[in-house]
Amino acid sequence: MPFSDLLLSLQSNPYFGAGFGLIGVGTGLAVLRKSSQYGMVFFRRHFLITLEVTSRDKSYHWLLQWITARGTRTQHLSVETTFHQNETGKVSTKFDFIPSPGTHFMYYKNTWIRVERNREKQMMDLQTGVPFESVTLTALGKRRQIYFDLLDEARQMALKAQEGMTVMYTAIGPEWRQFGYPRRKRPLTSVILDDDLGERILTDVKEFIYNPKWYVDRGIPYRRGYLLYGPPGCGKSSFITALAGELDYSICVLNLSERGLSDDRLNYLLSVAPQQSIILLEDVDAAFVSRDLSLENATAYQGMGRLTFSGLLNALDGVASTEARIVFMTTNHIDRLDPALIRPGRVDRKECIDLCSEFQLQQMFTRFYPDEPEHRAAEFAAKMLQEVGRVSAAHVQGLFMLRKDDAQAAIEDVARITKL
Ligand code: ADP
Repeated sequence: MPFSDLLLSLQSNPYFGAGFGLIGVGTGLAVLRKSSQYGMVFFRRHFLITLEVTSRDKSYHWLLQWITARGTRTQHLSVETTFHQNETGKVSTKFDFIPSPGTHFMYYKNTWIRVERNREKQMMDLQTGVPFESVTLTALGKRRQIYFDLLDEARQMALKAQEGMTVMYTAIGPEWRQFGYPRRKRPLTSVILDDDLGERILTDVKEFIYNPKWYVDRGIPYRRGYLLYGPPGCGKSSFITALAGELDYSICVLNLSERGLSDDRLNYLLSVAPQQSIILLEDVDAAFVSRDLSLENATAYQGMGRLTFSGLLNALDGVASTEARIVFMTTNHIDRLDPALIRPGRVDRKECIDLCSEFQLQQMFTRFYPDEPEHRAAEFAAKMLQEVGRVSAAHVQGLFMLRKDDAQAAIEDVARITKL
């Protein structure tokens, strides 16, 4: 049978005819699906603008807070609970609602924006155990500016909430995390140091911050190290907190004795510290005390991720940044520090914050009992030095607390300070 006859006979066969019809419909649908896929891709590429912000990015939390504050009409919320312990020890709890993972919509600058919060179940930050998250914003149009404006508003809102506050960060895994609520700024005048020591350090830090060119011109790394040493309770930590408040800086507190702080991690942390922050290494003497450094460096902790002394020195030297990098170290025992740690370049200024001088005793008295005449302050200071000797400011504060409303009793009872 010729081929044309075979085709004709097949077409006239009802089963084959239906088969061809089905193939035709199937092909048509496939083409339609493919072209709609391409159409979507084309549409996304040319008519939609998306922005992804991951949880690693600094603006992630600002953005979530801002979205919530704008009131997306979502009924699906996540809660973020934070505890805050204030100076009196009282713990308060704060709940923040943020959009839960999923899709939400919001209206901003005449545009509807789709907000998609994703939480990766499989991907986790190994160090912190926190699931990896991202927020993707999708809007109609091509104007990138809308995202700049949006992020800027979110940032402004976050900064406003921190106005008059000092933010403390602590190192969790490879990153800096805000620690507790931002604290109310401590006025510099509330920390009473001898003579004009506080003023002098403040001037020094300001001179450093406002003169980056001086360092660049001379090829000197743009960083400055300070060491505050002296007995406990004399105001080292309080002064650094007040200084940060005065400069509008945050504080990144690092505990060098923390387990799991390796050379690499320290190096990394110093290089990613938040902008405008003071790095505070507290009690630096404690980190390497009673350890045989040479032995440690040579064998024991290899691969165990411990901080070595040379690792600390390298990290301090390596902090190369275009941003002013300020490192404060504190210690109660300067004599226990290795000279290599406090040589110029690592520590550019060493200041002793000592037990109260006569001047400080008077100042503290006047600050605590502002209505008392000056000669009473002098009387208090003289009596203290004569009967007890030099004491820490924390002790003086303790004595005043005992005699809150009675300056006369505070003067009479100076000897009680030894029992505090
Ligand atoms: P340090 O860091 O030297 O051990 P802190 O700064 O922690 O001392 O001080 C402990 C307490 O004593 C704080 O509550 C602080 O208010 C008070 N204090 C210490 N030094 C001073 C000071 N020079 N002026 C005012 N208060 C002080």
